[in-house]
Amino acid sequence: MSAPSHLVVAVDGTSGSGKSSTSRGVAVRLGLRYLDTGAMFRAMTWWMLRAGVDVRDPDAVAARCHEPEILSGTDPEGPGIMVDGVDVGVAIRSDEVNAAVSHVSVVPAVRTRLLELQREVIGEGGIVVEGRDIGSVVWPEAEVKVYLTADAEARATRRAAETGSIDVTRTRESLLSRDRIDSGRATAPLAMADDAVAVDTTGHTLDEVIDRVVALATATEERA
Ligand code: C5P
Repeated sequence: MSAPSHLVVAVDGTSGSGKSSTSRGVAVRLGLRYLDTGAMFRAMTWWMLRAGVDVRDPDAVAARCHEPEILSGTDPEGPGIMVDGVDVGVAIRSDEVNAAVSHVSVVPAVRTRLLELQREVIGEGGIVVEGRDIGSVVWPEAEVKVYLTADAEARATRRAAETGSIDVTRTRESLLSRDRIDSGRATAPLAMADDAVAVDTTGHTLDEVIDRVVALATATEERA
């Protein structure tokens, strides 16, 4: 199909459900840009930790969240993320950031700041956007909304393989703990939008999931 340049594909779901690989694969297949909003929350968290801010103090986080300059790349083959000119692509995947990010992303001022940046990047569309609240809050008008799920064991196994960790149990606890905080927060919790299509990725290969989302996007384009 020819590139649907204004299409917005929102891919939400729990940690380790396959959002990143799916979103990037779909963007490559459809010739769209790609935005990883989780990387933006991670970049903010990395900056807070480096600045010595107590990430469990929401007022302290809110007071400083306008300081870092966060730049997200949109190439699905290598998106890249910079904070104040520093490439933090690797640093934002550390255990330290994993443990802190849900505390930072719960702060409304952080969400407001990043929401502005996210909407700026989405702009005219032509993009696959992954996160937790894309279809519900960031871009409710997205033409295609997918909500990815997978059982906890499958998610932990995948995430452990991605990060090279041998401790699947610890990885599962970390994922479940983030899910609990992400689902329970007052502002923009992890939630499936009413008009999203739920896709359970357990037992499916990445290619199968990509095919499914590409098919949804293609059907949407044909209806338009
Ligand atoms: O997707 P990823 O696991 O990298 O996201 C890291 C964290 O960022 C999530 O656990 C969540 O706390 C936060 N996040 C969010 N809203 C988004 C994307 C990520 O709150 N749209």
